[in-house]
Amino acid sequence: MMYRSFIAVLLLAAILSVAQSSKPKADSWGEPTRKKAEFYAASDVPESHILLTKQWYEIASKAWGNYGPLEFWIVGTDQEAAQKLDERYCEVRKKKDAGVDLDGCRNRSHNFERYAREGNAGLNTQRNEHADWSGFIVTMASKNPGPQEEDYKSVTLHEYFHVYQHAHIFSKSREERENRTQKNPWWIEGGAEYMAQLLYSRQTGVREGYLIEKMKRKLRAIDDLEDGESIRNIAYGRRGHIAYSLGAWFVAFVIDKSSEEAFRVRFFKDLNKLGFEGSFEKNFEHTSQELLREFHEEFLKKSESEMLQILPPR
Ligand SMILES: [Zn+2]
Repeated sequence: MMYRSFIAVLLLAAILSVAQSSKPKADSWGEPTRKKAEFYAASDVPESHILLTKQWYEIASKAWGNYGPLEFWIVGTDQEAAQKLDERYCEVRKKKDAGVDLDGCRNRSHNFERYAREGNAGLNTQRNEHADWSGFIVTMASKNPGPQEEDYKSVTLHEYFHVYQHAHIFSKSREERENRTQKNPWWIEGGAEYMAQLLYSRQTGVREGYLIEKMKRKLRAIDDLEDGESIRNIAYGRRGHIAYSLGAWFVAFVIDKSSEEAFRVRFFKDLNKLGFEGSFEKNFEHTSQELLREFHEEFLKKSESEMLQILPPR
C-alpha cells in the first residue's frame, strides 16, 4: 500500500514537472518593471549624448512608470558608424528572437543610416503573433533635434510616452492594437506631445511660460485645417503635423474637462478591457465624437488668450 502511493507521488511529480517545463513563459507585457532600458550607440556618439538620453528616460519613467523591455539606439551623423550599428542591431534582434530573419533585418528601409542622414526620433513597438520577443525600440539621432537642442529633451519624453501608451495594450493582434491607439495620429501623437511638453515644463530650470510658448506655436495649425475638417481624419504624412499640434491641444482640452489623472492613469488602465471608445466614455463622460465636435466648433473658435487659459498654471 505504501509502495503504491509512493509510485503515485512519483508519477504526480513527473507529470507536474512536465506540465511546468512545457508551460510558456509568462507574458508580463504592460506590468511596470524594475529592469532599466538598454542603451546602444554608434561609435561617433559622445558619452554625454548617451547620458543625456538616459537622464530624460529616467525622468519619464519616474513620472509615468518604468515599462519594457526597452532599448534605446542612438545614432550619430557618420554613415559608416550607423551602418555598423545596424549590423549590431540585427545581431541583438537575432539573439533575442531566434526566429528573426537576418536578411530582412539588414534590408529594413528605415535603418540607422537613414537616421544618420535625416535625423529625427522614433519608436518601433514589436509585438505580434509571429514573433517570440515583444518590446520597444526607441531610436534617437543627432539632428532634428540634436542633443544640443532643447527639443531633444521633450522629444525623449515624447517617445517614452509612446512606450507608456503601447504598454497598456496587451493584444498581439494588429487590428486590436490599432483600434486602441486609433490609426490616425491625433490621439496617440497628441497625447505623447502634450504629456511630454507638460512634463518638460515642470522640470526645475525650465523657464516660466515655456508651455504657453510651445502650445501657442501649435495653434498656428488651425490655419491649415480645412472647413469642417476633423483632426480625427488626418493621416500621418504631409498634413500629419496638424493632427500632432491640434491633437496636443485636444488632449489639453480633454484634461481640462476631466483631470490629468483621468487621462494619464485611468484612461490607460481601462483601455485594454474597454477599448478606445469604452474607456474614453467612462473616463471623460462623453463620447469622443461629442468632445471632438465641441473642440472644433466651440473651443478652436475662441480667442487665443481664452484657449491658453485651459493650460495648467506653472
Ligand atoms: Zn510620436
